[in-house]
Amino acid sequence: MLTSTKEILAAAQLRKYAVAAFNVYNLETLQAAIRVAEKENHPVIIALGERYFDTVDVEGFAALTKALAEKASIPVALHLDHAYQKESIVRAIDCGFTSVMYDGSKFSLEENIQYTKEIVEIAHKAGVSVEAEIGSVARGDFSDEEEGEGTLTDPKSAKKFVDETGVDFLAASIGTVHGMYKGEPNIDLGLLEEIQHAVQIPLVLHGGSGTPDNIMTQAVAKGICKVNVNTEVSLAAVSYLKQAIEEGRQVHLSDMMSGMQKAMEPVMTKFIRLLKNQQ
Ligand SMILES: [Zn+2]
Repeated sequence: MLTSTKEILAAAQLRKYAVAAFNVYNLETLQAAIRVAEKENHPVIIALGERYFDTVDVEGFAALTKALAEKASIPVALHLDHAYQKESIVRAIDCGFTSVMYDGSKFSLEENIQYTKEIVEIAHKAGVSVEAEIGSVARGDFSDEEEGEGTLTDPKSAKKFVDETGVDFLAASIGTVHGMYKGEPNIDLGLLEEIQHAVQIPLVLHGGSGTPDNIMTQAVAKGICKVNVNTEVSLAAVSYLKQAIEEGRQVHLSDMMSGMQKAMEPVMTKFIRLLKNQQ
């Protein structure tokens, strides 16, 4: 059923597991995410980025997600990922998203606090929870996100930010990247521990794709409750498509779509198993 993101992440924090937030763009990615979560009997967060508002009908997509969530045997949340515009946040709240991420990470700490606070007031009035980011996640290969500086999150600033904004979840930058890593991942788990001690709210890890399994499980043990996954799932579907075309197979579009869904499912399953391992 459609469940508040806050409720899902409060349970995750209490029981020391994490929930995958899969970026979706269409029916097949949505179906894949809910289907694997049901099979694994684990909650899931469906994340739609503001950057897809031009190509995905937001109200239609929210209605579709709610319909599939109501049928699902596990809790499903609907989250707005990386929103930079207040208008997008209001639009998502109006059509039933259960949480929104306001990304003010490119601003100074004071400005980020000011803008995030405004979003928190709007969202909380509607019973919607808010994720925000300080520090900024760098951009690796095959990413569909904006370029970030890769500035790591300062624990003291994190505490100030959380105290002053009243945000519900915090995306901490500890060395993961959006997309695939260009070299060896350099992830600072000690810093994560410091951030966890500084703030009490659930922490979010952006850039789940390509992160080594052992780092991921340690990050969950150190307070990460939500892991965003986009690129690795996209790569699985795209490589299926490329292979089918290269082989010159004569297939119908409907077969291509279901083939891509099947290609995405094992990747999503891998992430869910990794994140629920801590239970
Ligand atoms: Zn992100």
